[in-house]
Amino acid sequence: MLKDSYKLQGQRSQLIKELQSMGITSPKVLKAMQAVPRHFFFPADFSDKAYQNIAFPIKGGQTISHPYTVAKQTELMDVQPGDKILEIGTGSGYQGAILKVLGADVYSIETVEVLHTQAKALFKKLGLDIVTILGDGSKGLPDVAPFDKIIMTAAAPNLNEVLTNQLKVNGKLVAPVGDLAVQKMIRVTRADDNAYTKTTHGDFNFVPLTGTYGWKN
Ligand code: SAM
Repeated sequence: MLKDSYKLQGQRSQLIKELQSMGITSPKVLKAMQAVPRHFFFPADFSDKAYQNIAFPIKGGQTISHPYTVAKQTELMDVQPGDKILEIGTGSGYQGAILKVLGADVYSIETVEVLHTQAKALFKKLGLDIVTILGDGSKGLPDVAPFDKIIMTAAAPNLNEVLTNQLKVNGKLVAPVGDLAVQKMIRVTRADDNAYTKTTHGDFNFVPLTGTYGWKN
């Protein structure tokens, strides 16, 4: 990871305190978010906004997620070193970088070509060994499955078994599911081959999932 200035590290520390005040407790998630410079993943002209607790527009009409959202989804996944994780929606690459810093083997799929190309180049520049794929992540990545964890970073109309079937036993899928205005954060854990448990973790607002199992225009 490239070095950044003490001033920006200080701004990141403030953001970490804000995340703690919002209920993020996992020390390793907070440490990863302190370690990864979010401004590297921002449009260059707006890097001064990178440590505000806001989502921000990126290319292709998409967004880099809210830091709280990244922290919450990461906490829910309970990432362990060596976990094989599929991220659906590479976007800026920030969430993928957090997962990598936590020691996961990350496969990240993006449907918007300009974002895929940009994130791939940025991961290389930062020395982050993340597998990037251009394609429709709503179908998962059957050729590489099964996964320990799957994280969806776009709003899904429903939970579909095409994805939950790609989890290992004890694997987790964390995804925002609902309508286009608001989604519930759902965590599904695969208890055994045919049994799943589901928990719900608050309301969020994501850009829509597109593709075969996404929203139709
Ligand atoms: N994880 C990203 C980050 O850290 O910047 C945030 C991504 S943004 C909220 C959601 C992303 O999902 C967008 O880049 C969008 O293009 C992508 N997306 C939407 N539908 C998709 C699909 N079917 N397959 C792959 N990516 C998809």
